Amino acid sequence: MPNIKFYDHAQIPMEMHKVKIVQKLNLLPARQRLVKMEEAGYNTFMLHNGDIFMDMLTDSGVNAMSDNMQAAMLHADDAYAGSETFYRMRDKLEEIMGIKYLLPAHQGRACEHIIAQHFVKPGSTVIMNYHFTTSKAHVTRLGGKVEELVKDEGLVTKSTLPFKGNIDLEKVKACIEKEGAENIAYMRLEAGTNLIGGQPISYENMKEATDLAKQYGILTVLDASLLQDNLYFIKIREESMKDKSIREITRMIADLFDIVYFSARKFGFGRGGGILVRDEAMFHELEDYVTMFEGFLTYGGMSVKEMEALIIGFEETMDMDVISQAPQFIKYCVDELDKYGVPMVTPGGGLGAHINAREFVDHIPSEQYPSGALVAALYMCGGIRGMERGTLSEERNPDGTEHIASVEMVRLAFPRRVFTLSQTEYVIDRVKWLYDHRHLIGGLRFVHEPKTLRFFTGKLEPVSDWPQKLMEAYIAEFGEEIE
Ligand SMILES: *Cc1c(COP(=O)(O)O)cnc(C)c1O
Repeated sequence: MPNIKFYDHAQIPMEMHKVKIVQKLNLLPARQRLVKMEEAGYNTFMLHNGDIFMDMLTDSGVNAMSDNMQAAMLHADDAYAGSETFYRMRDKLEEIMGIKYLLPAHQGRACEHIIAQHFVKPGSTVIMNYHFTTSKAHVTRLGGKVEELVKDEGLVTKSTLPFKGNIDLEKVKACIEKEGAENIAYMRLEAGTNLIGGQPISYENMKEATDLAKQYGILTVLDASLLQDNLYFIKIREESMKDKSIREITRMIADLFDIVYFSARKFGFGRGGGILVRDEAMFHELEDYVTMFEGFLTYGGMSVKEMEALIIGFEETMDMDVISQAPQFIKYCVDELDKYGVPMVTPGGGLGAHINAREFVDHIPSEQYPSGALVAALYMCGGIRGMERGTLSEERNPDGTEHIASVEMVRLAFPRRVFTLSQTEYVIDRVKWLYDHRHLIGGLRFVHEPKTLRFFTGKLEPVSDWPQKLMEAYIAEFGEEIE
C-alpha cells in the first residue's frame, strides 16, 4: 500500500470530522412530497429547501465550514478599502499557489466575466478541455467561440479511465494550426471537469498542454473551482505524484498557468471568488473590471467574514483528510449503484454521483425529458433533490424543435463534509428501489416554458398519471411515512 491512509481502498468511506452544529432536516410524508412536486411544476429548482430531505442539487455555496472557519469570521477586518482580511487572503493564496496578484470577485462566473471581457474579441477562440455553462456563456456572449478538446474517451459514460478530463494534445495542435495562434484568446483547463461528471485531469496532461500553449505564445488559464477533488485524484491515481504532498502538487499545477481563477463557493468551502494573476502589468489591466463590476479591490463583492473564513478553508484544502471526503463518498455511492446494475457514470469523480438517465429510463423519449422525469421521481420517492443535466437544460433550436442533449444525466451532488454515510446509504437504497420500478416513471411536458434558461423557472406536468401510480407503489413498499 502507498503511504496514504485508507484513501481509495477503504470498504467504508470515512468522515474525518465530527458533527458540532446541526441543522434539522424534514422528511415530508410521501403524499405531501407529491403535492410539493406538483406545486413546483415538476422542476426541482422550484422546490423550497424546507420540503427537501437530502439536497443534492449542487455543491455550490453549501459546503460545510469547519469550527476554525467560523471562528475566523469574528476577527474579520471591516473596511471598504484596505481591509487587513484581504491582505491575509492574498498572502495565503500566494503562499499556496505562488502567484502574487489577487483580484477578488463575488463568485466564479464573475471571474469568467472579467477574463472573457478582457481577452475575448469577436471571432476569437477559447480552447478548453470541456466547457462549463457560465465559462462558455461569457465567451459566446462576446462573439467568441469555444473549442472543447477533451479526449474522446472522456465522453464515454462507463469507463475505468483515471483522468477523463484530459485534453487531447493532437486536437489542440490541429486547432491552433487551423485558427492561428493569434486568434486564440486563451487556453482554459478545468480541474475536476464539472459537466462530464467531475472528472479529473492529470498533472502530466496539464503540463503537456500548457507547454504546447506556451510554444505558441498562448495565455494559459486554470479554472480551479473544483481543484480540491482533482488534487485528491492526482495524489491517489497518478503514479509519479504519489509521494508528493497536496501542497507540493498544488504548487506544481499553479506554476503551469498565467492565470488561476476559482469559485470560492466550492474552492475554500465558502462563498466568493478570485483571479490570481502572475504578471503585474496584466493585473493592473484587469483591476478596472473589479472596481466597475464587483466592488473595491480589497473585497470585490465578498463579505470580509467570508473572506476570513476562506483563508482557513484554503489551508484546509491542503489536507488530504479534508479533500478525500467527497470523492470517497461519491465512489462508494457510484460503486454500490453500479454493482446493482444502475447505469452510472464511472469511475466516480468529484462533485457528485451521476446517473445515466438515458439508460435508466430508456422508455422515455428525449422530447419528454428523461432526466427531468427521473429527478422529479427521485424527490417524490425519497425527498432527494438532484439536478437535471439533459435536454431540459438545453435551449430549443431556432426552428422550435428540441435540441436533444448528447448526455442525459441526473447529478446527485455531495456538498463537502455535509452528509453522513447513513444518509448516503438511504440515497443508494431509494435509487435502487426506483431502478426496480423505473417502468412506472413517465415523461414530462412544459406548461410554462421560459425562452432562456428554461430549466431554472419552467413549469411542467406529467404526460399521464404516472406520479400517482409511482407513489402508490412507493407507499405500498415503505408505508405512508406519516410524522
Ligand atoms: C461552479 C463553477 C463555476 C462558476 O462558479 P459560480 O461561483 O457558481 O459562479 C465555474 N467553473 C466551474 C468548474 C464550476 O464548477
